[in-house]
Amino acid sequence: MKLCVIAGDGIGQEVVPQAVRVLQSMLPALQTVTADAGWATFQQQGTALPAATLAAARDCGAVLFGAVSSPARAVAGYRSPIVQLRRQLGCHANLRPTLSLPGCGLPGLDVLIVRENTEDLYVGEEHSDGDTATAVKRITRAASLRVAESAFALAAAAGRRRVTIVHKANILPLTDGLFRDCAREVATRYPQLQVDEMLVDTAALKLAQAPQAFDVLLAPNLYGDILSDLAAAFGGGLGVAASLNLGQGVAIAEPVHGSAPDIAGQGVANPVASLLSLAMLLRHHWQLPAFATQLELAVQHVLAAGTRTPDLGGSASTAAFCDAVMAAL
Ligand code: ATP
Ligand code: MG
Repeated sequence: MKLCVIAGDGIGQEVVPQAVRVLQSMLPALQTVTADAGWATFQQQGTALPAATLAAARDCGAVLFGAVSSPARAVAGYRSPIVQLRRQLGCHANLRPTLSLPGCGLPGLDVLIVRENTEDLYVGEEHSDGDTATAVKRITRAASLRVAESAFALAAAAGRRRVTIVHKANILPLTDGLFRDCAREVATRYPQLQVDEMLVDTAALKLAQAPQAFDVLLAPNLYGDILSDLAAAFGGGLGVAASLNLGQGVAIAEPVHGSAPDIAGQGVANPVASLLSLAMLLRHHWQLPAFATQLELAVQHVLAAGTRTPDLGGSASTAAFCDAVMAAL
């Protein structure tokens, strides 16, 4: 078993090595390969995603990706390395769970957002003549079917009850209409799951009002991005929000947060998002559900015992939190 470790920028350099330390205590035979990506890498090497990093990720088959900073304004030649990685590695689905954790966020929450990961407005095709700027929103049958298949298969395997298809097909009947129709088509093969659909604006309102009412949400790329940040707000914030990118064989575990320049360098970033992303990697990619559950329970135990980083009102450092998780394991 191999893990490609890409810490990236800012707090990625703090939470990733600590989370890997915890994982290694569980899996002593795990081989790790560290690789560079991000804004600092771009400034040093002229690319945010060196070919060696992509090769290492492919070779390992599993990646932990911390966070990268992006320049505030477009910089020639800079492209987001995580967007490129997801695309190059064929990670077509992004799983973003929001779960109640002891003492953080709302109780009774267990929402899973499955976000399409390769297309929509993220194809990066923008044009401008100075007065009119246009962006391409591309939705394909193939990508819509395969993300829907991932969402329904996961929902069924996890014993979940309902999948809500999110779209805006009243305004975008061709693009979002296609996404919705593909999801409906896949749904017919999962009679055990309830299916409904919701316009994205309504979904945002209902998520804000009663997030506990949702089970699985299936959304195109941009809506999925926005709704999962909204959901994360109810689950204890960015410090605990985990995600996993899945697709054709390679998986990327990715805490949802960014590089958090405001707290970087202080050693107090919350490692829970990275730890829970690794738990998703254990469960869905390495097929080690018992290890995944063990890690999740250890994190919950430590939080319940009151050890927390400052974002959750505590005073533990990143390293001290991970020490406590290792002790709980
Ligand atoms: P970026 O441009 O890299 O996304 P950002 O300024 O948007 O950087 P985020 O990382 O998205 O920063 O974080 C937003 C806020 O949440 C910041 O105030 C940050 O300190 C906080 N935050 C994010 N992740 C964590 C974490 N793991 N632990 C503690 N606080 C965090
Ligand atoms: Mg951010």
